Amino acid sequence: MMLLTRKMIEIRSLLQTIGQSETLTLPSIVVVGSQSSGKSSVLEAIVGHEFLPKGSNMVTRRPIELTLVNTPKAQAEYGEFPALGLGKITDFTQIQKTLTDLNLAVPEADCVSDDPIQLRIHSPNVPDLSLIDLPGYIQVEAFDQPTELKMKIQDLCDKYIQPPNVILAISAADVDLANSTALRASRRVDPRGERTIGVVTKMDLVDPERGAQILADRNYPLRLGYVGVVCKIPKDSKSLFSRGSANIINQLTKNESAYFSAHPETFTEVTTGTPNLRKKLMHVLEATMSASLASTQEAIQHELAEATYEFKVQYNERSLSAESYLAESLDAFKHGFKGFSDTFGRKEVREIVKHELDQQVLNLLAQRYWNRPVDSLRPIDPVMDIAEKENVKALPKADPENPLWQLKLDASTSTLTKLGIGRLATGVAAQALQEGVQSLVSNSTFASHPFAVQEMTKASEGILNDLSYDTSDELEICVKPYKYRVEVDGQEWARGRDNIGKVLQRELKDCEVANRAVEEQLGGRRKAKDVLSFIDRVRSGDLVLEGPVDGVGGAGGFSAALLAKGREALFLRDRSEILRLRLAAIKSRQCSNPANKYACPEIFLDAVADKLTSTADLFLDAELLSKFYYQFPRVLERQFRALDEGTVERFAREDPKIRRHLDVVRRKELLEHVLKEMEGLRMLEAREKRSSSRG
Ligand code: GDP
Repeated sequence: MMLLTRKMIEIRSLLQTIGQSETLTLPSIVVVGSQSSGKSSVLEAIVGHEFLPKGSNMVTRRPIELTLVNTPKAQAEYGEFPALGLGKITDFTQIQKTLTDLNLAVPEADCVSDDPIQLRIHSPNVPDLSLIDLPGYIQVEAFDQPTELKMKIQDLCDKYIQPPNVILAISAADVDLANSTALRASRRVDPRGERTIGVVTKMDLVDPERGAQILADRNYPLRLGYVGVVCKIPKDSKSLFSRGSANIINQLTKNESAYFSAHPETFTEVTTGTPNLRKKLMHVLEATMSASLASTQEAIQHELAEATYEFKVQYNERSLSAESYLAESLDAFKHGFKGFSDTFGRKEVREIVKHELDQQVLNLLAQRYWNRPVDSLRPIDPVMDIAEKENVKALPKADPENPLWQLKLDASTSTLTKLGIGRLATGVAAQALQEGVQSLVSNSTFASHPFAVQEMTKASEGILNDLSYDTSDELEICVKPYKYRVEVDGQEWARGRDNIGKVLQRELKDCEVANRAVEEQLGGRRKAKDVLSFIDRVRSGDLVLEGPVDGVGGAGGFSAALLAKGREALFLRDRSEILRLRLAAIKSRQCSNPANKYACPEIFLDAVADKLTSTADLFLDAELLSKFYYQFPRVLERQFRALDEGTVERFAREDPKIRRHLDVVRRKELLEHVLKEMEGLRMLEAREKRSSSRG
């Protein structure tokens, strides 16, 4: 019933996917021997390929867990490193190279590592076997192989030669068995020689009689016996076939059987030859597997009970898979997004667009209306008369009857309507949407997945960019009529009056706050007053200075830096003064009447801005918001659905909490599955036993 080994090997591979467990080890054949005992040659003879690292420098530094899988129908022979994901490697030279690299990657200082390399070889020429190759024991300490290394190798081997493993102890025929490090190690853990197979290599190097004597040894009796082999690859075969890649089984067996059949009488009572060794290994492993079935099943039951307990206590039996985690996360996000779309609509867009236009109106007013002609430290011309000086110093006064003054309002209105409201309004609305998405993402489960955050940000940016392009052009067309003529009725005027009053009030407050901060920086109100009055006097020409006023050294006893700050304070003071004056004007009777628009340009411009906003919010709501709200969740859905299994898995495992949860669920499911298989195997085994006892 060779099925058992195969099944157990499958189970072993399954168990390996959830990580090694100390308590759960299925029996393997562990290969030990001293350096140069011919250990690699024996393994390669079993596999039929040269694939192990070679070299004078000790190259096996990590255990190699070698799983041989018999694949009767396989066209090609190949190896794979399950942990590396390199795929099928048909070139055995490549396998050899990879193994060498993996071994050499162990830092020199660590000497050896107990982290095993897993290698699986599929071939029609190999039996189902599970072998572990270990670093060779050091017998003679060389100058570059310190005692520490010797001990480390011994410890590593000791770890592996424990039950239920079978020990394959390799000794060379030309070395006295009494000196065999492998047999000595095996005796320490298997004193009755019950699970050790002795392999004597290099039989060709000793006299046939002597060789047969070694194999029949009674000093070190082993229940599983000794096998003598000749595993030297004939020199000429190496030149005939490209090294490592061709199957060497034929050459080896021919060479070996030629040797043993040359001395037919000598080797009658003993076991010889690699084919017999292979058979023995298969039978012994099968029997060992069979013997350990019950204990393995128990171990799995125990592990399963632990996993089930953890699942219950830690995760409340909540099932989880990478896909379901992604789906749940996406659903939750979409739910949040729906909530956002309900709270961010036309009204909200209106607010942000109007706020933006309010700022534009304030800028226009400052530029075109309420600015002081002279606003620097440079003194005005001292030869001007008092009236002229006053004029320059004072704020401009509204002059509604003056055609030039009236032109200002037309120019300002035109600037406002030709501002590029399409781009501006679309831009601020799109930005607000993007910020909304950003904050949703950072408050969602996706926040702990940098890759997802990046992809979602990119997706929403992409959609908004595409929509903005057309929306801004079309909106611009919608506001086109205002570029020629704007009519403001009584109601609109009243609304404008009310709104601009609030805007100016806010602006005034901001100015006052800023002013206080600057005064603070100037050293308090008193000091600020001194600096400001100095600047005022210079500016108005009351004070004539000899040297340059802006010089590095400052002027009037004030440093240049202080004067610069002073000018800042002066600006804020003037601006506050203007704002107060204009607030009073807006509240005046004159400004309650739309007919007096030239006297109250603020109100008129606000009413214009309001009209523009109303067009924009309506249009943006229909063209930008509703389209974005429709498209974004669908694009996300599509993108996430297109992710391959590996990416979804990586995504879910990025979150350490989810990773642990997934691991427990997977472990539990896998153990349940394995346990079922084990039960099946035991039933099969029982049936076999019954039928063989009947037969
Ligand atoms: P390891 O260090 O134990 O893995 O030993 P190797 O398999 O690398 O073998 C050490 C040396 O012994 C190599 O030069 C092999 O060619 C040689 N060798 C291995 N098996 C035999 C054999 O059966 N007969 C002879 N004559 N040489 C062998």
